[in-house]
Amino acid sequence: MGAAPPKVRPESGSFRRDAPSVQFERAADLMGLDPDIRRILGSAASESIFHFPVKMDDGHVEIFTGYRVQHNNVLGPYKGGLRFHPQADLHLFRELAAWMTWKTAIADLPFGGAKGGICMDPADYSVSELERITRRFVYALGDSIGPDHDIPAPDMNTNPQVMAWIMDTYLTMVPPQQRLRSTHVVTGKPIGLGGCVGRDKATGQGVVITIENWARDRGISLKDSSYIVQGFGNVGSWAARLLHPYETRLLAVEDHTGAIHDAAGLDPLALSRWVEDHGGVAGFPGGVAIDHETFLGTQADFFIPAALGGQITEKTAPMLNVQLVVEAANGPTTFEGERILMQREISIIPDILANAGGVIVSYLEWLQSKRSEAWDLEEVEGKLRRKITAAYDRVRDAAQSYGTDWRTAAYVVALSRLESVYKERGIFP
Ligand code: GLU
Repeated sequence: MGAAPPKVRPESGSFRRDAPSVQFERAADLMGLDPDIRRILGSAASESIFHFPVKMDDGHVEIFTGYRVQHNNVLGPYKGGLRFHPQADLHLFRELAAWMTWKTAIADLPFGGAKGGICMDPADYSVSELERITRRFVYALGDSIGPDHDIPAPDMNTNPQVMAWIMDTYLTMVPPQQRLRSTHVVTGKPIGLGGCVGRDKATGQGVVITIENWARDRGISLKDSSYIVQGFGNVGSWAARLLHPYETRLLAVEDHTGAIHDAAGLDPLALSRWVEDHGGVAGFPGGVAIDHETFLGTQADFFIPAALGGQITEKTAPMLNVQLVVEAANGPTTFEGERILMQREISIIPDILANAGGVIVSYLEWLQSKRSEAWDLEEVEGKLRRKITAAYDRVRDAAQSYGTDWRTAAYVVALSRLESVYKERGIFP
């Protein structure tokens, strides 16, 4: 094998554009964040872009572009998923990496924030090509990742199989004596390779626990409520499957193949099986097809966006007919979209709280792999529930004491923790 491609450090590490920058600045102003710490947290610690060649099944070579943005590690090793997507670029990973820093801080995990991935559509490649692309990317990443340095996990279009290839490739690059104590270099691994029971459903489960907490605080019964979901991949489908026992009605679902509706409630279990077999919700016999506008306008108690970011905009926010948006996706609401939701008094449980279940169980997996332990589902679920509920309580209490919205409150919780650690540690040299 040849040498790893050179790392490119682009001009600026700042993520201060669009919604995340406004969210960050708003919370920093409200809490009076120390200006030095504001400067530190306002940019990523490192950003890498890799261009690497991979041989395709027919013998020709394609060049891929991969990224890893490491935003901050003052609380612990960099942590965050890898996304394979045709719209992935440095700007997106910059935003997503910063969101991981806030998310792990709110959940009180000993992790920092990172994100990365490859700009490509995995549907265009065979399984063996995907394996070679993944392995070559890990080779390019080299020692930018590591079990106590930067720990990738699944994100959009990556799964336990991809994590297995990452772990296997990484372990071949460390000295033999270190191999068996390095399996915590990734989380979201298959169970047989040191993965954690319950990791697959953890993000959806965290979403459901935050909805339970929200409903409990308001004396609302989930049994009589209804909701709609956008995106029926891992997170959306698990949230719906886990809401099913509450007899909450799933009125409509939309994904990249279309939208469906049933006033009596769609069956999330049958729909999950359908999506697995057919690649999307379109054609599901248990519902009727509706268009995008009708989906968005469906009257329901809550909306779970669980697809790509940037879906709730100045155009779509006025169409929503719900009381609550539970952000299962990362960054589903644009700055303008959020302003409209606020004007319309639609509540938001922000992404950095609502979807923290995934990284919380990643932390549990990391601990188990580090200690060669395997916990049972009850233990994992109990710890997830306690951790995400404590995070929920912190954000709710901050919203009350600062008299602000939940997203700003979530940032205040994260920034306060980061600020106090920086103050104690000081800035080198
Ligand atoms: N990709 C997930 C997220 O956005 C999980 C990250 C992790 O487990 O490290 O939170």
